Amino acid sequence: MADSAIVTGGSRGIGRAIVMRLRAEGYHVTTCGRGPRPEDLPEDVLWVTADVSRTADATALLGAANARFGQVSVLVNNAGVQVEKTVADSDDADWDLVMNVNCKGVFNMCRAVLPQMTRDGGNIVNIGSISGMVADPSMALYNASKAFVHGLTRSIAVDHGPNVRCNAIRPGWIMTEMATDGFALANDPEKAMADALARHPVGRFGKPEDIANMVAWLASDQSAYVTGECFTVDGGMTAAS
Ligand code: NDP
Repeated sequence: MADSAIVTGGSRGIGRAIVMRLRAEGYHVTTCGRGPRPEDLPEDVLWVTADVSRTADATALLGAANARFGQVSVLVNNAGVQVEKTVADSDDADWDLVMNVNCKGVFNMCRAVLPQMTRDGGNIVNIGSISGMVADPSMALYNASKAFVHGLTRSIAVDHGPNVRCNAIRPGWIMTEMATDGFALANDPEKAMADALARHPVGRFGKPEDIANMVAWLASDQSAYVTGECFTVDGGMTAAS
């Protein structure tokens, strides 16, 4: 039987590209989101309506993948939300949303899969952000939540080797709803976009497939000697800063 992979947040954006890439690599893929199954998801991809911030949903997601495709060997924690605010402007609801999805959601999924992965082997790829490394203005909680993801990645690699490898990807600007929503909030969205583009040595913004390519490599044996690492995939933007 082919290997089984879970990708959280596969309804659109980067998560969907990861689903399609791992499927093309021959994985049986299970994915989730908070809403109903997207109509354009290929039939052979298992959809589970699940909110990863809820412990019971995370357990149910793993249970559904195990039941349909056998033991999960790859987990990609991609689901994430963003709130554009400073600390002073953030309220309890902002904290709960960002921390529950971006931090507790990753924790929930890792905690669910780690008993079987620690015993039988497995591979976790977490989607962090360059925002967890260099502070994006007015993104305080989001930035902090992504720094958590990077820290958790290293801890899992240290605590759960040798059978488990755990790495993170720090995407830069990847053109999805999340990124375009961010530009739309700027005073002059067109100028904000042109300024951002000028900071990319590769001359373009990222595509979801750029991240999916890195996930495929980290999930494969090609990266067998790589664990506990966070990889920036940002078209050179951080280097140019
Ligand atoms: P999108 O907003 O386009 O997609 C987010 C995905 O996460 C959706 O499928 C959404 O599904 C799912 N999701 C959100 N909350 C939950 C939840 N509680 N439980 C389950 N699924 C959830 O974002 P992107 O594709 O742009 O981002 C994907 C990841 O990449 C995120 O972790 C983000 O922080 C990170 N990233 C993105 C960057 C970018 O420039 N786009 C840059 C750096 C990092 P639904 O709404 O249906 O529940």
